[in-house]
Amino acid sequence: MIPIPRQRPAFPQLAVLCPWCHSAPGELCTSHRGRRARRDDTHTARRTAWAINTATCPTAGCEAAPGSPCRSATTGLQLTTGVHAARDAAAERAATCTTHQPPLPANVTDLTTHRRNRGH
Ligand SMILES: [Zn+2]
Ligand SMILES: [Zn+2]
Repeated sequence: MIPIPRQRPAFPQLAVLCPWCHSAPGELCTSHRGRRARRDDTHTARRTAWAINTATCPTAGCEAAPGSPCRSATTGLQLTTGVHAARDAAAERAATCTTHQPPLPANVTDLTTHRRNRGH
């Protein structure tokens, strides 16, 4: 069931500049001081930067807006090592179904309604 990449792997995170190796948007990450392209993956920092730019974090207590880094729901401190897994998944979804849904549908008001209904 794993889709076979055609000629080159298309990582959605290629849309952003890699903060680690400074590969330009659209170009693969490089290693060995830029002499080798990484074809199987990208730097984790790039994936993180992309997720931050692409999706709102759905994690309760974090809910970081696009462009803002995740923060810990318990300490309120920014996560320096990555984003919540749910945000990565949300960004992935946004990247794969852009034809039918905008990345940020207008259900932000639904969220507040949910919260109110759930409130104990
Ligand atoms: Zn890179
Ligand atoms: Zn988060």
